[in-house]
Amino acid sequence: MINVTKAFLPPLEEYTKYLQGIWDRCHLTNHGPLVNELEEKLREYLGVKHFFFVNNGTIALQIAIKALNLGGEIITTPFSYVATTSSIVWENAQPVFVDIHPETLTIDVDKIEAAITPSTSAILVTHVYGIPCDVEKIKEIADRRGLKVIYDAAHAFGVKYKGKSLLEYGDISTLSFHATKLFHTVEGGGIVTNDDELMHRISYMRNFGHKGQEDFWGLGVNGKNSEMHAAMGLCVMPYISEILAKRKELSETYDKHFSSMGVRIQRPTVPPGTEYNYAYYPVLFETEKQLVSVKNVLNAAYIHPRRYFYPSLHTLPYLKDKISLPVTESASARVLCLPLFHELTADSIRRICAIIAEILKY
Ligand SMILES: *Cc1c(COP(=O)(O)O)cnc(C)c1O
Repeated sequence: MINVTKAFLPPLEEYTKYLQGIWDRCHLTNHGPLVNELEEKLREYLGVKHFFFVNNGTIALQIAIKALNLGGEIITTPFSYVATTSSIVWENAQPVFVDIHPETLTIDVDKIEAAITPSTSAILVTHVYGIPCDVEKIKEIADRRGLKVIYDAAHAFGVKYKGKSLLEYGDISTLSFHATKLFHTVEGGGIVTNDDELMHRISYMRNFGHKGQEDFWGLGVNGKNSEMHAAMGLCVMPYISEILAKRKELSETYDKHFSSMGVRIQRPTVPPGTEYNYAYYPVLFETEKQLVSVKNVLNAAYIHPRRYFYPSLHTLPYLKDKISLPVTESASARVLCLPLFHELTADSIRRICAIIAEILKY
C-alpha cells in the first residue's frame, strides 16, 4: 500500500543513543538539554532570530494569536488545514475568509482590502504546500492598515524567499513538526519571531506563564515539548538536506513521466525568487468528477492520494456565515496530493503516472 505520505524514521540505533542519555539524566521534559539543543540547531538552520519548540503546530498558532493579543476579525483563507481556522475560533476571534489566487492557491492579495473592517486585527494565512504567500504585498497592506501578520508556515520548513528564510516575514510564523510533515519530531511545532518583546511574551506563554517557580508573568498554557520528541528532531536533522533533495528528485520524476506520457495536468505556481521545499505534489484535475475517478482507480491499486484541502474550511459546521468563494471552491474540489515521501520509489511514481494517464485519455 502506498499512502500520500510516510514518516521519515532515522536508524533506530541513533534514536536509542539519545534515549540512553535521557535515562541517565532522568530529565524527561521541561526545557531539558535536548530541547535546548534542538532549538539552537533549528534557529541556526532556519536562519531566524527567535525560535521556540512547542508541542504541536496548533498550539503554536494559538500562542501566536494570544501573544499578539488579537481579537475581533482575522482575515484568513479557507484553503488550508482545519487547524488554521479552528485556532482563530478557539481564541474567540472571527475568521473572515478571502478567496485564493487561482495559480498559487495562497491568499489573493487583491481581495484583502475589501475584507478589512474596523474590527479587523490581523491577517493569518498559510504558505500552502510551502508556496510563499505574496509576503511583500501583505506587509504593505498590513503596515498601511495597522494589522498584525501571522503566517501558518506548517508546510514551509526550509523554504527561502528572495534569499532569506520565508519564516522571517510577518510578526510571527508557526511550524508543525507532526510525523507527516517534511521535518518532524513525531508531534511538535515551532514559533518564529524577529521581535524581542514578542519573544519574551511567548517564552512565558508557552510555559503556563511561569516566572520562576512561585511567580507568574501572566496567562499561559502548556506549550512545552519533551526530551523524547526533541531527540527525534535531533535524529532527523542530519538527514534534512537529503530529505529535501530526495523530494525534489521525486517531484521531478512525476513531472518527467507526466510530460513523456503526454498528460497535461495543472500544478500550482511557485513564485519566482522561491527556494522551494517540494513539501507536497498537488495536481489539479479539470473537474471533480475526473478527480474522483482517478482517486477510485488509484485506491483500487492500493495507492492512497489525499484531497488536501477538501472540503474548503468556510463550510465548517461551526461557522455561521455561508459565503461563496469561487476560486477556493473550484480548487478544493479538483486538487489531489499524490504520494510523496522519502522512501517512495521512481517505479511507484511511474505506475501512478501511468494509471492517471490511462484515465485522462477518456
Ligand atoms: C499540520 C498543519 C497544522 C497543524 O499542525 P499540528 O502539529 O498537527 O498541530 C496547521 N496548519 C497547517 C497548514 C498544517 O498542515
